[in-house]
Amino acid sequence: MKHAPLVDQLIHAFTCLPGVGPRSAQRMAYSLLDRGREEGRRLGNALHAAMDGVQHCQRCRNYAEEELCPVCSDARRDSTLVCIVATPADVLAFEQSGEYRGQYFVLMGELSPLDGIGPRELGLDVLEQRLKQGEINELILATGTTVEGEATAHYVLDLAQEAGITVSRIAQGVPMGGDLEFVDGATLAQALRGRRPFES
Ligand SMILES: [Zn+2]
Repeated sequence: MKHAPLVDQLIHAFTCLPGVGPRSAQRMAYSLLDRGREEGRRLGNALHAAMDGVQHCQRCRNYAEEELCPVCSDARRDSTLVCIVATPADVLAFEQSGEYRGQYFVLMGELSPLDGIGPRELGLDVLEQRLKQGEINELILATGTTVEGEATAHYVLDLAQEAGITVSRIAQGVPMGGDLEFVDGATLAQALRGRRPFES
């Protein structure tokens, strides 16, 4: 049996999501068409609005609807202290810890040359410029403890040392290879307070 073209198109569209193969995509499409027309319309509208309205903050690269995200445009945040994280989920984890008053730089990934992710893809050329401009006094590295996270941390460390900027790294309580988004706020706050100087 062949699907109607619009059904086919919907199924195919779902397969762009991470971890969704043709079978799951088919289940999702049927479920919306059978019992979820209203939710389906809401999903469509939300997708449309987000794809058109969400950009990257010009300062920290996190998702934003304006030129600057809410953290970067908040004058009460300390803009001389910048925490380097891999994903927007990590920013959320820090914000929920309630402990951090600095700003962020969101790499949107970690160095992985085999996957074609180099310094430029992570905006590290932009970070380098910002470090050279002298507005940042301290960097806190909060990339993961995986091979990619370590490689990224050392790359940033080199940039910071060239610019003569203090670098520390969050430590205690963060599991090896763990994603920050799965670390509870209290643990993350502790890791932030216990950050140590990071040297090559
Ligand atoms: Zn920002």
